[in-house]
Amino acid sequence: MLSGKVAVVTGAASGIGEAAARLFVKEGARVVLGDIQEERLAKLIAELGGPRAAVARRCDVREEQDVQALVASAEEAFGQPLDIMVANAGIVGRTTCPEARMELMDFEGQFDREVQTNLRGTALSIKHAGRAMKAAGRGGCIINVASVASFMANCSTSGDPALITAGYGASKAGVVMLTKLGACELRDAGIRVNAVAPGYTATPMVAQVLGMSIEDTIAYLAKTSPLPGVAILPEDIAQGMLYLASDMARCVNGHTLVIDCGLVAGVPGSR
Ligand code: NAD
Repeated sequence: MLSGKVAVVTGAASGIGEAAARLFVKEGARVVLGDIQEERLAKLIAELGGPRAAVARRCDVREEQDVQALVASAEEAFGQPLDIMVANAGIVGRTTCPEARMELMDFEGQFDREVQTNLRGTALSIKHAGRAMKAAGRGGCIINVASVASFMANCSTSGDPALITAGYGASKAGVVMLTKLGACELRDAGIRVNAVAPGYTATPMVAQVLGMSIEDTIAYLAKTSPLPGVAILPEDIAQGMLYLASDMARCVNGHTLVIDCGLVAGVPGSR
């Protein structure tokens, strides 16, 4: 589905970004992987078949020159302009005051870290990918990563703590609007800008928040899912990204595709 395309994936060393990189390569794209975890990137490149299929570059999405260089490296590596940007890198802080789960009163720097990475990092990714795609003049596609936390203050599926902080929720709500604004700004250049909004997905991020192994995380998510027994895996989110990146979605623009087993719709958790 992506034969002949060149893609950049940020936050590609783990979880959803890693799954997107694997799927995009399987579907014929050549991919530039950006992340701050260089060792994990090197391992992944080897698994993906080496530099003909994928290359890695250290990129901290909070740093504009890193994002600019990451985008430029797509054409340098593969001799062809960028077609697809997946702005996936993100962090979630720890909830340290469970009674006030939004942490508006006590965020101690965490708010800034979440906003810098999730919101500013996404804006920089749109900016530099959009510029490169515009200059190449052959359209393109940008996919951001929002969250169920873009829409819900309390994302609990089980009555347990909702695992959300103010910086996370506000930054992910901002990603939905950046997606719409990006779609407006880049439409003349034939560039579509969309997002996915995952529900709880079994990645190292969620495993760490829950304090569980990945296996236990999958079991926990299956037990509490709005669709009984269905745990969302990183591959499920990558499939949504593949759809948005493909010609099947050629009329989809400015849209946030929620992939959450029905949580945002109000379908209750199954426990
Ligand atoms: P993850 O922690 O497994 O992977 C995130 C990756 O981003 C890591 O490899 C990390 O090193 C990288 N990263 C962090 N800060 C970075 C920075 N400044 N520059 C570059 N890379 C950076 O998490 P994940 O669950 O795969 O999350 C991927 C995206 O999906 C994030 O934007 C996250 O907010 C979003 N999301 C995840 C879930 C979920 O339940 N897992 C739900 C909704 C949204």
